[in-house]
Amino acid sequence: MPVLNRIAGFADEMKEWRHWLHRNPELGFDLPKTAAFVAGKLSEIGVDEIHEGIAETGIVAIINGQGPGPTIGLRADMDALPITETTGAPHASETPGVMHACGHDGHTTMLLGAAKYLTETRRFKGRVALIFQPAEEGGGGGGVMVREGIMDRFDIAQVYGIHNAPTNDFGVTDVAKGPIMASADEFFITFKGTGGHAARPEVATDPLMCAVSTVQALQSIVSRNRPGFEPMILSVTQIHAGGPATNIIWPEARIGGTVRAFSEEIRNLAEHRITEIVMGQASAFGVTADVNYERSYPPTINDAEKAAFAADVAREIVGPENVNENPTPKMGSEDFSYMLNERPGAYVRIGQGKGVLLHQPNYDFNDDIAPVGASFFARLVETAQPL
Ligand SMILES: [Zn+2]
Ligand SMILES: [Zn+2]
Repeated sequence: MPVLNRIAGFADEMKEWRHWLHRNPELGFDLPKTAAFVAGKLSEIGVDEIHEGIAETGIVAIINGQGPGPTIGLRADMDALPITETTGAPHASETPGVMHACGHDGHTTMLLGAAKYLTETRRFKGRVALIFQPAEEGGGGGGVMVREGIMDRFDIAQVYGIHNAPTNDFGVTDVAKGPIMASADEFFITFKGTGGHAARPEVATDPLMCAVSTVQALQSIVSRNRPGFEPMILSVTQIHAGGPATNIIWPEARIGGTVRAFSEEIRNLAEHRITEIVMGQASAFGVTADVNYERSYPPTINDAEKAAFAADVAREIVGPENVNENPTPKMGSEDFSYMLNERPGAYVRIGQGKGVLLHQPNYDFNDDIAPVGASFFARLVETAQPL
């Protein structure tokens, strides 16, 4: 695999960075050690500007090329997950109950590797903005960095991100020309009735009956309201009702769940129909209802032209036979979507060899793909903004 020679030359150093990050996982926006490590490395590497404290612990660093030109954004996520690691690796997490189970330690390492190479060589025009974000696994740190204005502040024209893929053979790179990950919305429904004695249901109103009926009825949105060619998932994942005794009709029942989709139309349909069905059910059962539909990560949609460009660069690094431009989109979600909503770009998945899946306690990032990802990032810059 033609990793850039200079990057291959410091692959062992990248492995040390990755193992440090893996031993020191942190959650959400609260990444003091991780951010300090990244800023320290960027400073050693000698990038031109380091801007810390964006979205609490996010960092944007700038590398100037030779001569004027646009700014290209490269993004890595830095946060870990609340999972107890079972890999038994020498570099296993030293923080109980927290681990890098999604490989964000590897993504951060890839971007630091690209930073080291690009700072040394500077074979490009314009600038690179290195975006290190917190809170990808919840909290939408990428969205917060966008809302804090990084795209305009650093004049970023296009933006790219990488995720490792333990479902792909080593180096096999997915570059979709359009949708790649779904939106992830949540809904919370509360039914309230009078409750009462379980032996006197005729004088009570029972929110539990209504909740059970509603769980069934909500499934009709996917089967009856959704156009056939539009992907959509509606999963009711929570139902809370009842008290300490079986002889009490409890006065409240709650339902929670998630909606996954690839378009605003389907998200709007979900919100609208969930509300209609819930209100109809409540009326039928004589209880009151409250619906809270919360829009979270938008769908991740690559720009077709930038995806084709990223695929060309990927072919150079991993070989033409290892680039898949028509991967099946996934119903999971990714907050790089907020950046792609602001600027054209692409999100690619690089195979790390088929193995333990993401978010599992025995998952580990494959250090051998860090130089591949770093080379891909570096060549994106050199190819997009050549001297
Ligand atoms: Zn994850
Ligand atoms: Zn991830």
